[in-house]
Amino acid sequence: MVLSSGYGQHWLHQRSKQAIQAQKIESASTTPQGATNIHIPAFGTAATSEENPIIPDPSLFDFGSQYSEDCSTKLPTVAECAAHLELLEAFYHIRLKVLSSTALDSVLGIRPEPRTVYRKIYLGYGRGYSREEVKLRDDTFQERRKEKWSFYLALAAARFLRWTEAVEEQLDGPKGSKDNSLHLPPIDVLMVWHALLLNPSWFRSFEARPLKNLFTTRFPWKEIHNAIDADKMDWPYNMPRESIAWFLEKTGLEPDLFEALIKTNTSSSIQQLLKRQGAPDSHENTHRGLTVEDVDAVLRRPADIDELQTMFLKCCRDAVNQDTTITKLVDAVQRQASFVDKMERQLWIRSPAIEGTLRRAIDRYSKFLKLFKLYAKTMLVPTLDIDLAWHTHQCSPYRYEVGTVKMAGRLIDHDDKLDKGTLNSGFTRTKDLYRIRFAQDYQVCNCWDCEALLSAITAQSSETQTNTSVTVRYVYENVAYHRAVEIARRKGHKWLPIRIQEVQDAGS
Ligand SMILES: [Zn+2]
Repeated sequence: MVLSSGYGQHWLHQRSKQAIQAQKIESASTTPQGATNIHIPAFGTAATSEENPIIPDPSLFDFGSQYSEDCSTKLPTVAECAAHLELLEAFYHIRLKVLSSTALDSVLGIRPEPRTVYRKIYLGYGRGYSREEVKLRDDTFQERRKEKWSFYLALAAARFLRWTEAVEEQLDGPKGSKDNSLHLPPIDVLMVWHALLLNPSWFRSFEARPLKNLFTTRFPWKEIHNAIDADKMDWPYNMPRESIAWFLEKTGLEPDLFEALIKTNTSSSIQQLLKRQGAPDSHENTHRGLTVEDVDAVLRRPADIDELQTMFLKCCRDAVNQDTTITKLVDAVQRQASFVDKMERQLWIRSPAIEGTLRRAIDRYSKFLKLFKLYAKTMLVPTLDIDLAWHTHQCSPYRYEVGTVKMAGRLIDHDDKLDKGTLNSGFTRTKDLYRIRFAQDYQVCNCWDCEALLSAITAQSSETQTNTSVTVRYVYENVAYHRAVEIARRKGHKWLPIRIQEVQDAGS
């Protein structure tokens, strides 16, 4: 459907821009009247936790009976795409947590190391020179801080490889028995698994050790949704207790990598070892990092390290060994970072139109797959919303393979290593083909306003003629409300905004 919503779209863009501006002024200045003449709807404040709004709405997460049925050609569902958005938020925030952690800086020996040099100062005729001590700023410091993330990911990849062995064995059990169900892995392992899945053909052959059980396993969207606390602004991921126990027992590794790293009561030889990872090299003032020899030296003296610590060290050894599989896995996660950032910026998961956005994305994705069948030799490039549905589909590799073979005529690989130029020309071509084939716009604005407007217009029945300006005003208020909730959440408010109407309802 091509909407002639140009006027409403423009009005909403303008008004929202002003409203955001006004809200910024209000929160920045001590005198709120410095604000504006723009109308920002007034909201009440929840008085109890029951009154706090739940965004995204729980009804979004209707996973149905998809787990029991074998409907392998099915497209991803709204619930799965929504859980995916939650997962990407969790990924975004774990990266932020690792990068900003000063506790982890300290564990890894990352601190500014100003260098002292001596400068010759000319004192004037006949008086010669003197030596002056000068402290030079450590310009490697910020770079070394960023290295934390690569180190964390290398450990995550090493842990992922151990997890795949345990999980393949687990899933080998008799079908349908309780013992062969998949337990949720820790978030670092999940992140590597997720990134690998987004490379379908690599996943299928995975380094000549195919993950045959993981291949037929559906991605645990429902369990992931249950594990993520969407009420918190940093989307924490909490593994179920039995999954923690399973992971610990089967892999011999700490369930929470971040906690394991910053734990202070670990053996002193491990503490000394980790400090070498982020410290600058004493001679060059450049970053050296841990070496295999460093780790081996500790592993050879097992006196003060227990079993858990030994397994941790073995992962450290794999992580710093520059093994190609680990390097490739780390790169795959790193490549996904820009998509994660884009999803966090769009923040559809908190938008009033989330359900419509995802429904439309899935529909557009099915058309995108048809283009693959129609134009088999053309490189097709997705829009952001189609990409989300596409990624969600890829996370269940068996279903993805059967589905794309059926709908697109072959297994569609996903190449996330293409350069910008190739992508741009592919995108223009896809845009044209989509328009020709489906008489719809390919590239649309997916902001909260436009999505909510589209949902509102779609929801209107064709018989009743609703005044466009009434619809647009309704959308504006709805978006303003959702924005107010998100702002309050980010400010750490315990009680979130509620609609005045609800206050009156509650009071009457
Ligand atoms: Zn827009």
